[in-house]
Order: sequence, then C-alpha cells, then structure tokens
Amino acid sequence: MTFERDLRLEHRSFWQHEHGPYSANPPLSENLDVDIAVIGGGFTGLNTAWQFKQDNPNARVVVLEAAVIGFGASGRNAGFSTKLFGLEPELVLLRWGKQKMIDAHRYLQLAVAHTRQLIQTHALDCDYRHTGLMRISYSPQQSVRMGKTYQLFQQLGLDGDMHWQEQAQVRQQFNSPRFGAGIHESDTGYLNPCKQVRALKALAESAGVEVYEMTAVTQVERTAAAILVHTLGGRIKADKVVLATNAYSRELPGPDGLRERQYPLWTYQVVTEPLSDEQWQEIGWRQREAFGDNRQMLHYFRPTTDGRIVMGGGDVLPQKGLAREETPSPATWQHCEAHLKWIYPQLANTRIDYRWGGPVSVNLDMVPEISFIGDERIIYSGGCFGHGVALTHLNGRTIADLLNGRKTELSEFWIVNRKSLPMNSDTLSFWGGKAARQALKAWDWWEERRLEA
Ligand SMILES: Cc1cc2nc3c(=O)[nH]c(=O)nc-3n(C[C@H](O)[C@H](O)[C@H](O)COP(=O)(O)OP(=O)(O)OC[C@H]3O[C@@H](n4cnc5c(N)ncnc54)[C@H](O)[C@@H]3O)c2cc1C
Repeated sequence: MTFERDLRLEHRSFWQHEHGPYSANPPLSENLDVDIAVIGGGFTGLNTAWQFKQDNPNARVVVLEAAVIGFGASGRNAGFSTKLFGLEPELVLLRWGKQKMIDAHRYLQLAVAHTRQLIQTHALDCDYRHTGLMRISYSPQQSVRMGKTYQLFQQLGLDGDMHWQEQAQVRQQFNSPRFGAGIHESDTGYLNPCKQVRALKALAESAGVEVYEMTAVTQVERTAAAILVHTLGGRIKADKVVLATNAYSRELPGPDGLRERQYPLWTYQVVTEPLSDEQWQEIGWRQREAFGDNRQMLHYFRPTTDGRIVMGGGDVLPQKGLAREETPSPATWQHCEAHLKWIYPQLANTRIDYRWGGPVSVNLDMVPEISFIGDERIIYSGGCFGHGVALTHLNGRTIADLLNGRKTELSEFWIVNRKSLPMNSDTLSFWGGKAARQALKAWDWWEERRLEA
C-alpha cells in the first residue's frame, strides 16, 4: 500500500504549494510497544495524540501517517472553523429530532471556541481570523428557505450570534449584483489548514508524541493481549488504537465492521491570483469574513493573507476507486471559476492560480461518528463531510476521554457510539452517492431557474 505517487506537487493544495518545502519525519523502521497508536496524521489524529499525551505524560503515543502530515483533507480544506453539522439543519432536525440538533449545535459551538483557544494558548501559526461567516442567497426561493432556517434557529434558541440581513445590508458589505438576503453568524473563523496541521504536529512532538511519516499501516490485527499494527518498516504492539483515517478508512485492512461505515466523496477548490487593492475595493467584501451560499451544492469563499480568494464547492464526485487516488475534476474547477465570475463580474479577467480537490468522509446518516470498533481498544472517527475543521479539533479531546476510559460531557455526546447505517456494497454506495448528487443538483436548478446566466 503506497501513497508515494500521490505526493507529486501538482496534486497538493494551494496551501501546501504556498507553505513551501517540507521535510517529513523518517518512516517507522523497528518494532515498538506503545500505549496508544494513532493511524492518520490529520487534525483528528494529531489532536487526539496531543490531548492524550497531555493527560498521560508518561504514556508512549505514536502517530503513523501513510504520506505526510496533512496529506488528507486536513491539508487541503478551505479552513472554515464553523458550526455546520451534517447537511442542512432541517434535515438534521427531521432525522435526529430537536434535542439532538440542539446538542449538536452546542458541541460545534464548543468546537469553534476550543479550536480558537488552542490556537491562542499555544500561539499556533495558522493565520486564524475570527471574522464571522455570511450565508447568502441568490434567488427569492433561496431567501425564503434561508428565512425559515433562521426562524428554526430562533425557535430552538440557537440564534445567539446570528443576524438576519436584508439584501440592501448584504450589498453594503459585498458589492455583488447577485446577492440576496443572508444570515450573518459572528462566532466563526478561518485558518490556513496546512499551517495549522504542521503546527499541531510540532505541538504534539513538543509534548513527546512520536510521529512517523511515509508509514502506511498495512494491517490492524486484534489479539487478546494487544492490538498489532503492521507497517512495512515495523510492527507496533499497542494497548489501544485510534483510526483517524477519515475518508481513507474503507481501504484500511483490519477490523471487521470498519469498511462499511463510510464512503469517500471528492470535493474541489480553486484560488485566484492575488487581487489588487483596487479590485478589493470594487468587490466590497469589507470585513473579509468568510461567506457561502445556501445552495444544496454549497459554494464557499474566503480571502487569503496574500489577498487571493479561495473558493470551492458547487459539485461533489463519489469516489469510484481508492480515496488516496487523486481524482481531478476539470468540469468542477471550471464551474467554480465561472461561478466566482458570475457573482463578481468585476473579476472577469482574474486568473486562477491553483486547482485541487480532496476526499471527505460521508455516511448514510449524514452526521459524524466516533465509535468503538469491536471492543473499546479500537476507536474510529469519520463522517465529518466538509465540516470537519473545528469538529475534529474537539473530537481529539473527546477521543482522548474515551481512551482514558473517562465518562465526560464530551464522551456522552450522541454521535459517540451511535448505531450507524452500514454501507456494505461499493457499487450501491457509489450509485447511491450519484443519485443523491443528482437530486441535490435538481433542487438547486429549480430554485435558480429564473436567475440570469
Ligand atoms: C476540499 C475540501 C475542503 C474542505 N473545507 C472544509 C472547511 O472549510 N471547513 C471544514 O470544517 N471542513 C472542511 N473540509 C473537511 C475537513 O477538511 C475534514 O473533515 C478534516 O480535515 C478531517 O480531518 P481528519 O484528520 O479526520 O482526516 P484527514 O485529514 O483526511 O487525515 C487522514 C489521514 O490518514 C492517513 N491515512 C490513510 N490511510 C492510512 C494508512 N493506512 N496508514 C497511515 N495513514 C493513513 C491519510 O494519509 C491522511 O493524512 C474540507 C475537506 C476537503 C477535502
């Protein structure tokens, strides 16, 4: 099992290009006995390892990463630290009911605060900005639906940091002829994901966590005495193992019951060249907060510290083969560029500098999951969709509580050990994903059918 051919530069995200050369730690080359082995060096794995090591300074904790730290979604995402959970709030309410929706919102509120505090306390260099998030509509139908979402949050008492803005107010901030009414959420932020994941690696190592890169796990084996984690360079004997492999979990050879828990979906982004001061003036966007629309196939936008716009979304592709195989989508990149220029005709001649994508982990229930697999010695986390930045930071704390065998408010959160719907068949999952994608696209088409091209 090799990830090496996927480390070519053209497959990396803008953040990885921009952040410059990186020297990975050497791979594992001996057998080790450890307390905790974490498989996967993204936000989930590094946060978990660091939190557990903080709680247990004498414990031996290792992180095994098949490629380099941040190779997965953690080094490729848009960096929105938000309270989004699952798909639309209405769907969460319908499927899970009022109390679980409220609890999920509170967990995500805590996740955003926790991530921010972690960054501040440890001075993590990740360009974090707590700017808020604007969600905007384009069509009257989308405005009406957004108004209902706002009322729902009000009825549930979850609208603390939310403010409704009419079209005129929105356009004071954003000089786009396409924008209708929107909701401003003040308590969210964004960061540079590649800087953050590398800063987390340094934080974990400073606490004594051992990080092995270019170390693909080839088998996880459960025995009565220990969990054995096999790699080409050595074998780890661990008391407990955390599977922080996200969208790649289907490919991890090992424990029964893991494969069918989730399925990878690819999602895509583009970034412009740096805009001039005049261009920023022309498009408004005065507070430089992140924003997104309320389409089913959501688009999202944010500035970078060097004055570019990162945008993504608009489509997703169910993964046909392995999640670790890069799946370019020129049509989606073209769509993103066209959409950016549709909302901002002022940028008609602006160049796109980078295009990339990455896999997110989805499941049938459309909400995340942290679960014991088989027994309490193996813990799996997945199903974060495209909303895992803040979530995975707090999940690291939650998983550490589970590893400690401690019952806490976090370990009691309802996504922990919930019963998930299995996705047994690759073919059905693939075609199911395609059918869901078509349905969501049709919904968007219907709501936007009267908009100007
Ligand atoms: C394009 C894109 C944009 C996104 N934008 C946002 C956003 O703006 N806001 C938001 O909240 N979320 C966003 N997300 C989702 C978010 O990035 C993820 O939910 C989060 O990063 C998941 O972190 P993770 O550590 O669980 O998984 P990952 O970062 O995917 O890490 C898993 C790691 O496991 C490693 N691995 C896999 N198999 C093995 C093996 N056999 N042995 C060893 N290691 C292995 C992989 O190499 C990988 O590094 C986005 C995702 C994508 C792809």
